[in-house]
Amino acid sequence: MESRAFFVAGRPVHGESESTVHHPYDGRMIGRTSQATPEQVEVAVAAAAEVAAEAAALPAHVRAAALDHVSRRLAERAEETAQLITAENGKPIKWARVEVDRAVSTFRWAAEEARRFTGQLQRLDTDPTATGRIALVRRVPRGPVLGITPFNFPLNLVAHKVAPALAVGTPIIVKPAPATPLTALLLGEILAETALPDGMFSVLPLPNERAAALVADPRLPVVSFTGSGPVGAAIRRAVPDKHVTLELGGNAAAIICEDWNTDEDLTYAAHRIATFANYQAGQSCIAVQRVYVHEWTYDAFLPRLVAAVQELRTGDPTDDHTDVGPLISEEAATRVEAWVDEAVTAGATIDVGGRRDGANYPPTVLTGVRADARVSADEVFGPVLVVARVEHDQAAFAAVNHSAYGLQAGVFTHRVDVAFAAHRTLEVGGVIVGDVPAYRADQMPYGGVKGSGVGREGVRSAMDDYTEPRVLVLTGV
Ligand code: NAD
Repeated sequence: MESRAFFVAGRPVHGESESTVHHPYDGRMIGRTSQATPEQVEVAVAAAAEVAAEAAALPAHVRAAALDHVSRRLAERAEETAQLITAENGKPIKWARVEVDRAVSTFRWAAEEARRFTGQLQRLDTDPTATGRIALVRRVPRGPVLGITPFNFPLNLVAHKVAPALAVGTPIIVKPAPATPLTALLLGEILAETALPDGMFSVLPLPNERAAALVADPRLPVVSFTGSGPVGAAIRRAVPDKHVTLELGGNAAAIICEDWNTDEDLTYAAHRIATFANYQAGQSCIAVQRVYVHEWTYDAFLPRLVAAVQELRTGDPTDDHTDVGPLISEEAATRVEAWVDEAVTAGATIDVGGRRDGANYPPTVLTGVRADARVSADEVFGPVLVVARVEHDQAAFAAVNHSAYGLQAGVFTHRVDVAFAAHRTLEVGGVIVGDVPAYRADQMPYGGVKGSGVGREGVRSAMDDYTEPRVLVLTGV
């Protein structure tokens, strides 16, 4: 099997320490790549720094055309890309196809944003001393971006960093997750087809220690990190003076409010929650992990939820009908198993699921879980749902907030006042009304508070993040 090239300053190259990538479902080898050498890293960083001024001056139509090209080529190579995502990540092919469609739209949307990223005209003559003055506010790239991404969305999370960088005209170096580098390299192939100057992008597979050294490089003033809390915190401590965005973990909750109580309501919520607790085997930062149900409907809701979970098809992720595949590794599944066992020892009940097979862990529903159990209080990052009864909606809000994390929450209600109360009260980056927390659109700011991160993504938010305002004051106008 041929080793896939990675990209240094836009050019395909091979490096040192050949590594293999394995299918999480059956362990078969599905690809090879190598790691960037220190000399190659230096070439990538020096090229990014050198091209930064030229990149910032690229006309909007050139940036937009490059982004449109990537969108179109990803669409043309959609099935190949989806198969590669499934092979290296183990997510069911139907979810991999959704991921590719999303990335196609992320690049298309970024092309549109590149065309309308025009800055601002600010009148100053609201103050008598500034009569005859006006300000133009242009957003200027802060400098080359280092994007570090996790394994769970090997394409989308790379797209969320690369597309806004190209849209504002700033170079980017991507460090993909060690378990899933190949999809980022495929994206690199497509980026290399564009007319962007050399140095605009590099994709560098690197071991973690060498990635940490790259974080510290002063020529990369912006670090955009998506991954786990401890690594994010270490990055923040290491480079307090850099502009750092952290998209970290969560233990997202859904609330079934008092008014969400008809048969139809409960069945709908049960299916949405069952699906979005277990998609990507729960390995999504906004997968539903906790469910708070009003006591009036709890007894009607729980059996519906258990039934919806039992309907999910588990198994071979390459099968079109599979809903839930393996976790990224047997080690990850073993950790989930240990956390569930620990909760059960402390008195929890397994309503469905709970028996590991290698890297596969079945969709699992737990009740009677203590709030401080790791399956509830920490990020489980596996197909495990904790369901609890609450006396009223406000108690559910308090339970959601009783968390070290705050990414998104789903609130099942028909009432506008309850929606507003949730929006006012919940300590999260986003509240999704009438659905699960697992919802992200490129047009909206996305990110978390508390232990879930710092800053926001979403194409436009990331474009703002990668740039800073520079004001031009005109006098006598
Ligand atoms: P991880 O933190 O182990 O790794 C993420 C990336 O950081 C990888 O590329 C890894 O190689 C790199 N890395 C590790 N140590 C590093 C160091 N010292 N310096 C620099 N880079 C280093 O995370 P993971 O297990 O790949 O992904 C799962 C985590 O990602 C979960 O916590 C999940 O919630 C989080 N996540 C968050 C979002 C979000 O948008 N908030 C989205 C997806 C995933």
